Amino acid sequence: MALNLLYLHARDEESAITFLQQHNVLRQVPPNCITCNRVMSLVKSGRGEERIFRCPLTKFTILFLKKDSFWESSHLKFKQIVELLFLWAFKIPISTANDLVDVSEKTIVQWFAYFRDICTNHLVNNPYRIKEPGVIVEIDKSLVAKRKNNVGHVVERRWVFGGVGGSALQQDKAS
Ligand SMILES: [Zn+2]
Repeated sequence: MALNLLYLHARDEESAITFLQQHNVLRQVPPNCITCNRVMSLVKSGRGEERIFRCPLTKFTILFLKKDSFWESSHLKFKQIVELLFLWAFKIPISTANDLVDVSEKTIVQWFAYFRDICTNHLVNNPYRIKEPGVIVEIDKSLVAKRKNNVGHVVERRWVFGGVGGSALQQDKAS
């Protein structure tokens, strides 16, 4: 079932771009040209793997589709981004992911860490608690380290406590 979604959204670059746009992680609305203010068009660039917005009039003014997005510094194809998101979401081990996609193990390690950081930050910023009294909660702890701008040395460490309780597997955390 889920594999069908992967086939659908990672079957080519256009499908992957649409998927990422629909999930608000890639610019959806074409920008206006800073020179003539016309709406720019999305076109292929380079060897056809990159996508840029280009001024329909001068053709000189361009803006990379990945600009200002989470993927700005990435050279991955859009379909590879969707593949990595899928593999990470299904907890596929890195070595297996490396066998399944045409992306280096080092790159997979980095992106899986970024995805985890994003989710961690979301949970740290949006905590919620298991409310029912009398529910037995299992707790565990994890040391979370954050890299500045996703690169370089670790600048922030934070312990996150997680809890699982009840049949709904609600998760509770405090840090
Ligand atoms: Zn223009």
